Amino acid sequence: MNLRDYVRDIPDYPKKGIVFFDITPILSDPDAFRHAVDCLAEKFKDCGATKIVAAEARGFIFGAPLAYKMGIGFVPVRKPGKLPFKNRCVTYDLEYGTDTLCMHEDAIAPGEKVLVIDDLLATGGTVEGMLKLVAEAGGEIVGCGFVIQLGFLDGPKRMQDAGQEHCFLLE
Ligand code: IMP
Repeated sequence: MNLRDYVRDIPDYPKKGIVFFDITPILSDPDAFRHAVDCLAEKFKDCGATKIVAAEARGFIFGAPLAYKMGIGFVPVRKPGKLPFKNRCVTYDLEYGTDTLCMHEDAIAPGEKVLVIDDLLATGGTVEGMLKLVAEAGGEIVGCGFVIQLGFLDGPKRMQDAGQEHCFLLE
C-alpha cells in the first residue's frame, strides 16, 4: 500500500502560495489508517519507550493508537490553558514568531524513555518544542516518528542537528 495515495494536496491553504497536505483520506480508510499505525509500530518496536508524546491536534490521531498498539502510555501536549493539572510550558521559534506548548508537569518521569510522534514534519518547530518539554522533564528521547516529512523545509536538518533518531512513512 502506498500511503501517498491517501494524502491530498490542497493548494493555497491556509494561505495563498502554501500547499497543505491533507491526511484525512488516510483516516477515513480503515486499511490505510491501520497500515500507518502498524508501520510506525514496526519501526519503533525495539526503541524501549514507555511513553509517546504527541501534540494536538493531528499528533493525537496517530500517537494515541500507536501507544495502544505498543502497550505504552500516551502524553498529550497542548496549547496553553487546555491541560487541567500543573503545566510545564515551552516557547519555541516558528518561521515568523513563536508558539507555546504545554504538558502536565508529572507526565514524564526523570529518565523515562520517550517516543515523539506527529503527523507531519515541516519546519521542525513543533517537534523542537516537544523535545524541549521532554528534556526539561528529564525524559530521554529514543525516537521521533512522522507520517510525512516536507523535505524542502528545515525539519529534517533540525532533527539531525538535535541528534534524534527519526523516521518518516512518506518522504
Ligand atoms: P512544523 O512545526 O513547521 O514542523 O509543522 C508541523 C506541524 O504543523 C504538525 O503538527 C502538523 O500537524 C502541522 N502542519 C503543518 N503543515 C501541515 C500540512 O501541510 N498538513 C498537515 N499538517 C501540517
